[in-house]
Amino acid sequence: MSSVTRHLCPLDGCDWHYDEPDPSTDDLSGITPDTRAATFEDAKVSIVEQAMMRRLRTTESLIRAHFESHPLEQWVAALVRARQERDQLACALGESHGMPLS
Ligand SMILES: [Zn+2]
Repeated sequence: MSSVTRHLCPLDGCDWHYDEPDPSTDDLSGITPDTRAATFEDAKVSIVEQAMMRRLRTTESLIRAHFESHPLEQWVAALVRARQERDQLACALGESHGMPLS
């Protein structure tokens, strides 16, 4: 059974997500070992490293492309809301622990 890692867009009202499949042998497709590898183990490591870097680049590229589809104003609004929530939580925690906030 395969599973995925779901990457969600953090902006309110956006339900975009990318389901990154778990690593599999399919990730090794088209990858060749480093011919300069000194040992068989080093060659295996180089293949895995290349496959992981390709996955990371693909995931980053997809997420970045989606994030860039949102206008800057949405990001600013999301930051303002997050800061307000943080401040409210800090106040609530300070009150519940009897610590005055400066
Ligand atoms: Zn989004």
